[in-house]
Amino acid sequence: MKVLVIGGGGREHALVWKLRRSPRVQQVFCLPGNGGICAEATCLPGDPKSLSALLAAAHEVQPDITVVGPEQPLSVGVVDEFTRRGLKIFGPTQKAAQLETSKSFAKEFMQRHKIPTAHYAVCSSEDELRKSLGLFSTPVVVKADGLAAGKGVVIAQTKEEAATAGTEMFNGKLLGAPVTHVVLEEFLQGEEVSFLVLSDGERVAPLVPSQDHKRVGENDQGANTGGMGAYSTDSLLEKGMAEWLVNHIARPVIDGMKSEGAEYRGILYCGLMMTARGPMVLEFNCRFGDPETQAVLMRLDSDLLDAIEASIEGRVSDGDFKWSNDASCCVVVASGGYPGSFVSGKQISGLDRAAQLENVKIFHAGTSKRDGVLYTNGGRVLGVTARAARLNEAIDRAYEAVRLISFEEMYYRRDIGARALRASS
Ligand code: AMP
Repeated sequence: MKVLVIGGGGREHALVWKLRRSPRVQQVFCLPGNGGICAEATCLPGDPKSLSALLAAAHEVQPDITVVGPEQPLSVGVVDEFTRRGLKIFGPTQKAAQLETSKSFAKEFMQRHKIPTAHYAVCSSEDELRKSLGLFSTPVVVKADGLAAGKGVVIAQTKEEAATAGTEMFNGKLLGAPVTHVVLEEFLQGEEVSFLVLSDGERVAPLVPSQDHKRVGENDQGANTGGMGAYSTDSLLEKGMAEWLVNHIARPVIDGMKSEGAEYRGILYCGLMMTARGPMVLEFNCRFGDPETQAVLMRLDSDLLDAIEASIEGRVSDGDFKWSNDASCCVVVASGGYPGSFVSGKQISGLDRAAQLENVKIFHAGTSKRDGVLYTNGGRVLGVTARAARLNEAIDRAYEAVRLISFEEMYYRRDIGARALRASS
């Protein structure tokens, strides 16, 4: 079989790596890929946000299945276009992807279907935002409607700060482009958990839980990023909780989307806050998370292609995934300065030695290869991922590998998974 993976980050490297392990996969293509992916797949040039580039690539390589990594191709309707042309593709349609692409749609959908989430108000003008702020206490969360790559959420400590953030979302100052709607949300407290399920539009099969670390600095300080690391261990959820989440969140979402004429196929990512009032949905994503996927796929012992096909062909079942009881940890190695400005093009060394450590896999997020030499090529550069029987061992092993790697101005958080270890000791 020929598989085409769309995207070029750590998540896509993990997808390529896992798909290559399927005995039925002969060839993997990746558009555009990166310096590390190109060692495991045939990389194709092109912009993954451009439908015409994606269609041209599919025309050229004739994939049996296409797997979409990031949200942008879904938001421009790649699944609709490929399906119209009879091409098999994994992921939700443009309409179904609204669960991620529109925060106001997601909030109103959750209210319609009684899915637990924070209190909110959708505002379509600054005036409305200022009035609605009266209904909230501080801190209050201000969210731009639409895709914002993790930059569209401001946790405001005062109402003035919230009003300013809202104004800058409406006028385009904050995100570079104006938004038409801003969502105000009650601030929730608790542990965050990423709970993903596979769906075929009717049935769901849960993946193992994981936790992302979004802030750039240790102890969750500083700016939000695309993710500085993640870990996965079964003890992230209490006994019986995965089933509760399937019954009260995942399945109602899938049923609700179907009843609204927007059948949801693919990965549904539920970003949850485990609050004193119970689990609440912070956000939905309509695809695998990054870097969580790197940690989660390290624990997958069964064939990812089989699961993907089950979603496309409408036969998802609980048995689609076989998970290891091991824990895993992914430490993101970034360019100094990220998520602000940073310099690319730094030569990376030590990768070969690090990759030789047992149960370690180094996923490339932002790298490029020239004349056999790897260079940094992005804010998040590598996802150094390890698997071990216990979480502390997985964390130690990932950091052992990180310490063998170096490039100028390399930066990483030293506390990935640390809170989970403190909580369990
Ligand atoms: P989102 O893109 O909606 O997941 O928001 C990004 C991050 O902002 C989340 O992972 C949380 O850390 C934080 N966040 C979002 N909504 C809330 C909320 N209602 N209460 C507290 N933190 C939140």
